[in-house]
Amino acid sequence: MPEEVLVPSKSAVRVRFAPSPTGFPHLGNIRTALFNWLFARHHGGIFILRIEDTDVARMVEGATESILHSLRWLGLDWDEGPIFQSQRLPIYREVADGLISRGLAYHCYCSPQRLEEMRKEQMKRKQPPGYDRHCRNLTQEQKKGFEAGGLGPVVRFKSPLEGRTSFHDLLRGEIVFENSTLDDFVLLKSDGYPTYHLANIADDHDMEISHVLRADEWLSSTPRHILLYQALNWQPPQFAHLPMILGPDKSKLSKRHGATSVTEYEQQGYLPEALFNFLALLGWSLDDKTEIMSRDTIIKNFSLDRISKTAAVFNRDKLEWMNGVYIRGLSVEEFSRRAMPFLEKGLSLDVVRPLDVNHVARIAPLIQERARTLAEVPELADFFFVERLDYDSSLLLNKIEQTVVVAALLASIDRVEEWDSWDATSLESVFRPMAEEMGLKTGVFFGLLRVAVTGRTAAPPLFQTMEVLGKERCVKRLKLALDKLAGL
Ligand code: GLU
Repeated sequence: MPEEVLVPSKSAVRVRFAPSPTGFPHLGNIRTALFNWLFARHHGGIFILRIEDTDVARMVEGATESILHSLRWLGLDWDEGPIFQSQRLPIYREVADGLISRGLAYHCYCSPQRLEEMRKEQMKRKQPPGYDRHCRNLTQEQKKGFEAGGLGPVVRFKSPLEGRTSFHDLLRGEIVFENSTLDDFVLLKSDGYPTYHLANIADDHDMEISHVLRADEWLSSTPRHILLYQALNWQPPQFAHLPMILGPDKSKLSKRHGATSVTEYEQQGYLPEALFNFLALLGWSLDDKTEIMSRDTIIKNFSLDRISKTAAVFNRDKLEWMNGVYIRGLSVEEFSRRAMPFLEKGLSLDVVRPLDVNHVARIAPLIQERARTLAEVPELADFFFVERLDYDSSLLLNKIEQTVVVAALLASIDRVEEWDSWDATSLESVFRPMAEEMGLKTGVFFGLLRVAVTGRTAAPPLFQTMEVLGKERCVKRLKLALDKLAGL
């Protein structure tokens, strides 16, 4: 049988998202995850989740859970993983040992103090920072001496002293580095953990990664990786370094520009489908004009050709707008369902819990048009829930004399008390002619009623609001408005 037949068929595209759990995933990290996921889904490939947890000192508790949660929330499902590098330490050691035995890497016994002094000295002399290769050519005797002294060595890679290392970046083209700028970087630390460089390439090789799509902050690491691939006689994957994400002030997106972790957006009431669409457009576009696109459309059209070569600018107003579009696109039932936890959490404490699902479902259509985030829903809807409205009585006197307001409120109470059919259309048929009878502009009179029944000047359509509030509550609130005026 020909040999190829025995080789299991491999998917052409195998990509990975390889976060380090040193913090909670921010938009930039998740945009990288999204682009990898889209690339895999577009090509019918495999998306692997690999947790690069080898920097023990910088690990943040809960970060891994937050990464998994954020990916799940956005619907970025993985086909393999999560694979934890901390559980694969022997693999990296073996690779490092192999390089040592072939004379391509070496043990370095320099103490942190020595390295610190070296750094200071380099700074003083304005030399580029980097290891001075002190241990590169130690004799057996010297090594023995260090080992007898109990010093745990690190393993360093023997970077070539001259020449150039180049690679083709799928977005940026040919990238060339002078080897003289690359020092003998560490592969294995004295605690037995690999560095990012070693673990990253060992795993990309082992997991048969075809394409590495990662943030461009890693670009300067890539020549090191290429040198390692060459030293190991491994075929490197293809690389695409994704453009940065900048804040509106054109500096790197950070906390200063507002929420950065994905869970913060979830808590602030952004819909995962809106954030998905928004993030896809941070560096990629369909045609320079289409903004709202379904997940399927994005998958179908995603390609590296349409990834921008320049940095993407994060625009929060656009995200809010987009979220509003997605909120309005939900069915009323779905909107109520998603708004429910925000209402439970955000309404004032004197509103009785648990909330009545049917009541929420009646309110939802009135709020859905106006909410840009789910977290705004409690604020937009609280007057439907609270027993007693709390507002400044001067709002009742907008453009009208107090005596006129009192007369209008009294007449309104009289009229509704004798009115039985309580729906928006009949309410309008009662109140519209009343404005004229009292010589008030409709807008002014309706504005007064709006303040009386909702406690605010801007609210959903008045008569639909009154319908949902119900007769008893409306009458009570009209009377409360009178009491408030009496107290003025
Ligand atoms: N662990 C690195 C990170 O946190 C992975 C970078 C890469 O994709 O190579 O982003």
